[in-house]
Formats: sequence, C-alpha cells, structure tokens
Amino acid sequence: MTETYRNYIDGEWCDSATGRTTDNINPADTRDIVSRHAASDARDAAAAVAAASAAFAGWRATPIGKRAKILNDAAAHLEANADAIAAELTREEGKVLSLARDEVMRSAQTLRFYAVEGQTYGGETYPNDDPDMLVYSQREPLGVVTVISPWNFPVSIPARKIAPALITGNTVVFKPSSDAPLSGYRLAEAFVKAGMPKGVLNFITGSAAEVGPTLVESRAVRAVSFTGSTAAGEQIHKSASMTTRTQMELGGKNPLIVMEDADLDRAVDLAIKGGLSLSGQACTGTSRILVMREVKQAFTDKLVAKVRALKIGNGMTPGMDLGPLATRKQRETVLGYIAAGRAEATLLCGGEPLEDGEFSHGYYVSPAVFTDVTPAMRIAREEIFGPVLAIMEVGSYAEAIAVANDTEYGLSAAIATRNPRYMHDFAHDIESGTVKINRTTTGNLVNAPFGGIKRSSTATFRESGRAGLEFYTQIKTIYRGC
Ligand code: NAD
Repeated sequence: MTETYRNYIDGEWCDSATGRTTDNINPADTRDIVSRHAASDARDAAAAVAAASAAFAGWRATPIGKRAKILNDAAAHLEANADAIAAELTREEGKVLSLARDEVMRSAQTLRFYAVEGQTYGGETYPNDDPDMLVYSQREPLGVVTVISPWNFPVSIPARKIAPALITGNTVVFKPSSDAPLSGYRLAEAFVKAGMPKGVLNFITGSAAEVGPTLVESRAVRAVSFTGSTAAGEQIHKSASMTTRTQMELGGKNPLIVMEDADLDRAVDLAIKGGLSLSGQACTGTSRILVMREVKQAFTDKLVAKVRALKIGNGMTPGMDLGPLATRKQRETVLGYIAAGRAEATLLCGGEPLEDGEFSHGYYVSPAVFTDVTPAMRIAREEIFGPVLAIMEVGSYAEAIAVANDTEYGLSAAIATRNPRYMHDFAHDIESGTVKINRTTTGNLVNAPFGGIKRSSTATFRESGRAGLEFYTQIKTIYRGC
C-alpha cells in the first residue's frame, strides 16, 4: 500500500488545494511507487508564504538558544532514523545505500554545526573619535526565505539551506524536487518532531510551474536559496524582485587534470569516485579528464579496466558501485549525450542502456569512457549529469589550465600531481569555486564555504560553513550616543 504524504503549512499537515497527488517512482524498479505527494498549486504556495510571514516576528524574538535546541533535536531525529531515511532515499533517488546513509548523517552534522556556529554570528564594533558614542553593527534575519532543492542530494542540500536560515531567525518555505520529495518530507518532519513553532517551517510539494512563481515572486519572500540547473536558476534569479536576495547553486563541467608525475592508480580512483559514484549525478562530479600526453595511454588503460569492473545495480543491494539514473528524463538526456559523443569522439567502454534481467525495470546506463575528446565537442562543453567521462589529451600544464578554464562553468576542479609547484599554481590559476589537490572534485565540508564562479552560481553569497550564514542576515549599523 503506497502512502500519501501531505504538505506542512502553518503547523498542520494538510492536503493540497488541488486534492491531487503525484507518484514518486523508484528509478531502480519503476513498478515500485515509493510514495505519493501533494500536487500543490499557487494557492498552497501562497498559504505557505503567508504562514511563514505571520510566524516571522515570533521566531525572530525566540531566544537563539531555543532555536539552536530545535536544530539539535532535529539532528538527533535524523541520526536515530538514519537507516530508515537512507533506505527511502535510495528507493526514490537510486544512489547506493551507503552513500544515502552518509548523506543523512552529514545532514544531521550540518544542523549541529549551525546550532553552534549560528550562535557566534553577530556584528562588529567600530572605533570612532567620539568617546561618548558606541558604533556597532548587528545582523538581523531577512524574513521569509524560500528553499528550492534538487533531487540528487535531497536531504543534505536543503539541510544546509534551512539550518542557517532558521538559526538566524528567518522563517522558511521549503519545496523539494518532485523527483525525490520523500527525503525532503523526512527532513521537514525532523524539524516538526523537534518542536518547530507553527508557520516557521513550511513544506510543500508540487511542480515548479505551479508553485514556483509564488515562491519566488511574492513580495513577502525576502530571499530564495536555490540549487538546481543553470537554466532554472537563471530564470528564478531574473524573476525575483530587487528586494529579494538570491543564492543560486547551479551546474558544473568539472575537470580533473592528471599531470605526468601523478600516481596513476590514485588518479584513476579520483576519476572513478569523482565521476561515477552517484552515477555521475553530482554537481561537482568529474566530467572532463585532462591527461598529460606522456601518461595518457597508461592512465586510460587503467581507467577503462577499472570502469569495466564496476558493479551496477539496485542501490539497495550491498556491494554495488553505481545505481540507476534518477529519472527517465535523466536517462534520455544521458543517452543523448552518449550518442553525440559516439559521433564526435571514441567510445572506449560502456554507454549502453541496460535493459535485460535485473535492469529491465530501471533507468540503468553502463558507465561510459570517451577518449580523443577535444574542447569544442558537446561532451566537453555541456553538463551531462550522468556516468560519462571524457578524456582529453594535453601537452603542458599551461594547456591543461587553458582547456580546464575553457568552460562557462566554475564549480569544482581537481589536479593529480606530486609536484608542489603544480599544486601551488593550480590553486591560483584555475577558475573554480572549489579546488581539489589529489582529492575528488566531489565532496565538501559542512564547515567550509561552498559555491561556484562563472555560470555555476550567482555572484552573490556562498553556501555552507560560516559563510552560509551571511546570506540569511542583513546588517544594521547603530550609532549610540549617551
Ligand atoms: P532543476 O533545475 O530541474 O530543479 C531543481 C529544483 O528547482 C526542483 O525542486 C524544481 O522543481 C525547481 N524548479 C525548477 N524550475 C523552477 C522555477 N522556474 N521556479 C521555481 N522552482 C523551480 O534541477 P534538478 O534536475 O533537480 O537537479 C540537477 C541540477 O542541479 C544539475 O544541473 C546540477 O548541476 C545542479 N546541482 C547543483 C548543485 C550545486 O550546489 N551547485 C548541487 C546539486 C545539483
């Protein structure tokens, strides 16, 4: 029996105004309907914004220690229910169970981080010439914040948006992706169980077309924190009013440079872990591998051998390296890029739709490795968001940097080398918000800033870490004489 999950508005679990629901399908087995969710429309979105607006004054006045306790209690709820939440995450999104569990635990860690860090985030005092005047700034919450998240990290991405918003005294309307709404529901539920006052956190599910405009354009919405595709992010950024802050975390085309002195086995592991775990569906996933000419063949041989040995299957089955793609649309997009790659470059392995036996009801594609890829090709330029690696040959460090930077994106970039000169120069030369040296392009700490440059993010505010608190607060400067 498939369960139906409702919206949470103004402290009540409620049906959508439409009375309709949408099915949440398991991408590993499309016969399995994981859950049903409210198909909300603009009326629900308006009710959620109104509830958040009405709750703002009370939440802002709530002692920060009390707000922190709710974050800690929500974290405890996630930890206590991590196995069950992770299993649902794998069922609705497809990633392997161990990664799903890591994500839930990391989300709890994020909540705990902001419960502490938010309490140390304040203003400054400013020296001045008047001995009878104190000049200081204080940080204040913005008001109603909309959080819109994608399906690929359906717990950790909204967690790193909602936690800093709440601890700084904002109220929130949270809309998860319709392709992984149950994980978002579980996150919202954790806050509700932790005793969130009514109206402070509102949760609605529904299509972007139905609820998006109200969540972004309502006058009461003072900030929109969005993670998703560059196309959607740009549209939202443009449609928000001048008094609405935006923070858009968008796409990537992340390079891994393999220098001539790199430990090649390690470099292969970086490519596979960074590019193919999560079936390539990470915004920071490695997509382009720029390899120095003298080690290209040796690296490629090792990479192909390891990719061929990867185990693909249902993420619930222990020992799998890759699960399915998350949606039918995602699978079509990825297969389209593989077809484009076959026409432009040389396919060394994989790239096949898997449709027989255990794969027959899921969105599976075998991981593909292309070589002879040049910078003008589509598979070298466009975000694929799937298990596809493109090997590009380079002849020098300077050429590697030029090719790596020849992209509209700038989210994450890595280099494999033993040479401290390359390490040092790479950190300076690469146009990327995240720089990894002998580490995967994927992965970021909860206590460090995260975000991209160029078209990977809006040029506004960073997420995550202490920097993540800035977006949710505005500065007031006070001149107090006596
Ligand atoms: P998407 O843009 O299709 O959707 C993301 C979310 O935005 C969903 O909840 C969707 O319903 C909503 N949405 C879409 N258009 C909207 C609109 N006009 N108004 C309001 N809401 C709208 O992205 P996706 O397919 O869910 O996720 C994959 C994309 O996300 C990839 O491009 C990936 O690179 C990116 N991503 C970026 C980061 C990052 O931190 N930079 C992290 C993860 C994913």
